[in-house]
This record gives sequence, structure tokens and C-alpha cells, in this order.
Amino acid sequence: MTAAPPDRGEDPRRRIPRTDDLLALPEVVDARTRLSETVLRSLVTHAQSRARSGEINPEDVTPAVRAAVASRNATILRPVLNATGVVVHTNLGRAPLPPAAVEAVVASSGYVDVELDLVSGQRAKRGTGTRQALLAAVPAAVHAAVPEGLDALVVNNGAAALVLATTALAGTGELIVSRGELVEIGAGFRLPDLITSTGTRLREVGTTNRTHQADYADAIGPQTTGLLKVHPSNFRVDGFTSSVSIAELRTLADEEAAGRGDGRPLPLIVDIGSGLLTPDPLLPDEPDLAGALTAGADVVIASGDKLLGGPQAGILLGRRRTIQRLATHPLARAVRADKLTLAALEATLTGGPSPVARSLHADPARLRERADRLAAAVGAPVVAHEGRVGGGGAPGVPLAGWAVRLPEELAPLLRTGEPAVLPRVHDGACLVDLRCIPEPDDGRLADAARAAQARLASKNSSRSPGSTGDHPDQSHGSGR
Ligand SMILES: *Cc1c(COP(=O)(O)O)cnc(C)c1O
Repeated sequence: MTAAPPDRGEDPRRRIPRTDDLLALPEVVDARTRLSETVLRSLVTHAQSRARSGEINPEDVTPAVRAAVASRNATILRPVLNATGVVVHTNLGRAPLPPAAVEAVVASSGYVDVELDLVSGQRAKRGTGTRQALLAAVPAAVHAAVPEGLDALVVNNGAAALVLATTALAGTGELIVSRGELVEIGAGFRLPDLITSTGTRLREVGTTNRTHQADYADAIGPQTTGLLKVHPSNFRVDGFTSSVSIAELRTLADEEAAGRGDGRPLPLIVDIGSGLLTPDPLLPDEPDLAGALTAGADVVIASGDKLLGGPQAGILLGRRRTIQRLATHPLARAVRADKLTLAALEATLTGGPSPVARSLHADPARLRERADRLAAAVGAPVVAHEGRVGGGGAPGVPLAGWAVRLPEELAPLLRTGEPAVLPRVHDGACLVDLRCIPEPDDGRLADAARAAQARLASKNSSRSPGSTGDHPDQSHGSGR
């Protein structure tokens, strides 16, 4: 409890404006079209409680409510300028959507013909455009390599795609997988736990660093219902290693079919993780959808928001009959993609280069010019700085570039500024890498950096012995 000041007879808290009066402020009334009553009330209550606790003066409550209403958006998610040099940054929502995908999201946000044929007026297959865009993105040679034909299915995310494929194809039987591929993706999320959660059993073969074709062959038995290959996206095993290729696994699956009563080959499920459509010379160790299909996968799984550069989605691309089995499994309905995702993914596939592709392939000379300009604006040096692919992809690949080196204390001020900027804190410095900043935002970034420098300078100059310089009581309460 804050004690009332002793030199006044009246409790200043009595001067705090009443809730109804604050809710009747013209700015609050106008905001009712974009903010709910609950949100507006909470902003009012928050300002009142700041005054009650002595953090602000009662006279400052009305201006505080006005400011809070003006700056409150419908979401508290804040756009961030990614100055880390990490292209697919998981904590920043992975891939930033390409402009064409943003347009598609807006266009499909109302009623759309996502499951309707406008010509006949009949119900139609969901997400046909996205499916066609995925199939069109696969090179003709791959289509030719799969006589049965290809099909595609889009679900909520990569994890959903994996659990759908393993459940629908391997059921409660045994899925054979290499020990070297039982990976934890991030935040404690482990693929083996996901796969076994629906009752599919995993039969691990080989060792962490080496697995041979014979290991799979020896493990195959009547209980086997599939073969799984997972790209261990976020780590590399160097040295004495070997793994079995998709083509070798295809051979095994086909040989097995010949020896089985039903003559059906074992399904070969391949999870490539990142979602490159075709090989990228910059990332020689990253598998791609086209390559995995040509090598003989029945179904290939990839995420939409990693290297593909689109919305969160799980992409299943594979042989026609396999995809049909997946699409008709009951679990498919539980993991289906929404219309916004379908639209954004289609636009990502049919539109120009994605921001992810641009950042990944940014010209180092151009990055240097931009860094030099920022360095001149803020009076700081440029240092060599390696970016990363991120998002659990291509762990060993450095992306040569540059950063402006600022004092470490600037980092929190950049993060909490407007616009918010996320730099990399490393080696006792605040490093600002322009790789993932859209070039038109360079000016805003420079302004944000200068504003942070000014805040740091005023913070340092107001700092006196025995004072922290930034306590709310001093920054707000004594200004009158
Ligand atoms: C990222 C990843 C996943 C999970 O995909 P999400 O889209 O994050 O659900 C699954 N498998 C591999 C190999 C991955 O790299």
C-alpha cells in the first residue's frame, strides 16, 4: 500500500478519473470500431492502477489512456526488423511472407471459392490452386520419373505432415529408421515421440554415426509397415559417417515387395525438413523435394515456412495413390490447412523471389555498401559478420556478410524502440546485420539506431550516484 502524502489532507488517489469518464473520452469512443470493450476497459483500468500505485500522477491518467488507446493495435504482436543475419528465425516467426503472399492472404480473407466451383455451383476439391502450383513447381523430369503420377497435399505444418504420413501409411506396425536420424527439432520437440504418439512403432537401426543398407534389410520382417528417412536438419555428424540413400531404400522397399504375399512395396517416407523445391548450390547438403522424389520416395515431407519462404504449412508431395491414402485418412481433417495458408502458399510458389531467397542470396558487396551507409549514420565501425540459414536448416553453412558494431548496451534499447530491431548480441557487442532487412527499410533502421543511441545518451547523463536514472518514478512522476 502506498501511503498518502503527509502534507495533504486529501488522498491524491481520489483525483484519479472515474472509469465511465475515461470510457467516454472521444478517443476511446472512436476506438470502439477497432478494439473491443474488454480491451478498452483493460487499458483504462491499467492507467488507473498505475496512478493508484503512485507510478503516475492522477492528472496523467487521461493522457495515459489516450496514448495507450492510440498505440494499441488489434494484436500485440509487433513487427520486428531482423538485424541478426539469421534468415529463418524461429523466434521471429520463421519466413517473412513474400508481398504476393500477403496480397493473397488479404484477398482470401473474406468469402472465397476455396471449396467451390463457381461455374457449376458445385462443391469442389479444397485448395486446387495450391496443389497445382506445387505440382507445377516440380521439374518435368521428376514427373517423368514417376509413371504413376504425382499429387500433393497441404496440412498445418511439417510435424502434422509427418504424423499424418506415418500414421496413415505405417499404422500400428513398425517403421524402420536410422538411429542417426532420430532428431529433436527445437524447444524439446522430438520426432520419435511425435511418430510413436499415434501408435506407430519405431524400429531403430544402425548407430548414431553409421547406418548401412544391411541394417535396414536385417530389420525388415512381417511386422514392418514402412521405411522412414529424416533429414537431421539442425546438426551435422562429421568424420566416420555413412547413411543409406533414398535410392538404396527404394531398392530395399521394392525387393521386399517381391518377397511379400501381397506384393505391395513398403512405403518409403522421406522428411526433408526445410523444403527446398530444387537443389540450391549455396546449400549443398540440403535435400530437395525434386531430388527426393526422383530417388524414389513415395512421399516427401517439408515445411512451408523454412527455405521455401512461405506460410507455416506442411507439404506432402508424392506418388498419386500414396497421397490419396493420406488425404482420405481421418487424421487429414484434423491437420488441414486453412484458406489463408493455402492462398499464401500458392502465391509463394507462383510469385517472385521470396524474402528468404533474397536474404539467403544477398550480394555481399551490396550488403557492404548498405552497412557502410548505416555505419556512417551512427558513427560505428563495420565488421565482417556471418549470417545463418537458421530455422534448424543447413547448420554448417556460414553466409558471409557484414555487421555494424555498436555497444552492447544498445541492444535492449533497439529491441524496445519503434520500430523494434533485433540485433545479434555477441562478443560483447551489439551487431546489426542488414542481410534480412528489406532494403527500403534501411532508413527506418538507421533512425531506430540513432534513437536508441539518443536514449542511451540521455540515460547515461541522467544517471547520478545512488540513482538508477530510469526508475518510473523519476521518468514520469516528477515532470510536473
Ligand atoms: C522443421 C522440421 C520438422 C517440423 O516441421 P514444422 O513445420 O516445424 O512443424 C520436421 N522434420 C524436420 C526434419 C524438420 O527440419
